[in-house]
Amino acid sequence: MQIDELNAKLAPFKIFKGIESDILNDGSLDYSDDILKTFDFVVASVHSNLRMDQEKATARLIKAIENPYTTILGHPTGRLLLSRKGYEIDYKKVIDACAANKVVIEINANPLRLDLDWRWHRYALEKGVLLTINPDAHRKEGFHDMQYGVKVARKGGLTATKCLNAFTLNEISSYFEQKSTANLI
Ligand SMILES: [Zn+2]
Repeated sequence: MQIDELNAKLAPFKIFKGIESDILNDGSLDYSDDILKTFDFVVASVHSNLRMDQEKATARLIKAIENPYTTILGHPTGRLLLSRKGYEIDYKKVIDACAANKVVIEINANPLRLDLDWRWHRYALEKGVLLTINPDAHRKEGFHDMQYGVKVARKGGLTATKCLNAFTLNEISSYFEQKSTANLI
């Protein structure tokens, strides 16, 4: 695989293999376990059927959070600021499920998303949930959105020790490994 070749050539620089997997209507992921297990990390997010009541949306997310291959829950409410409210979720139940399953929650840095909402960062941190600031870049310029994610995460109370992005290579490697060894048990 190309990433393996690059990692061999560029070591100790390391490219992790990751994917954003769709959370389907019933909460399952759109890739089979055989594919999911080939990644270092999997971001699970909802991109379809966004009109759900709170109970359905919460159950759908929790099922995805309980999937052993889910590393990160992406943009938890699907909101687009100024245009789409996003589905209602029971934040506490979703965050508690992330704590129980060691799933990291994304702070999506796209200025139209900023989802997980900053008002819930502190609750997540109190529950021991790690947060990660992701640019959701669809092209190279998208990486510049990181500044909005960092600002909103600071506003929410996130510090470097609880921010997955700020982990060292060793810390992040062992975090991913821990999660995938847990899958084998
Ligand atoms: Zn997405």
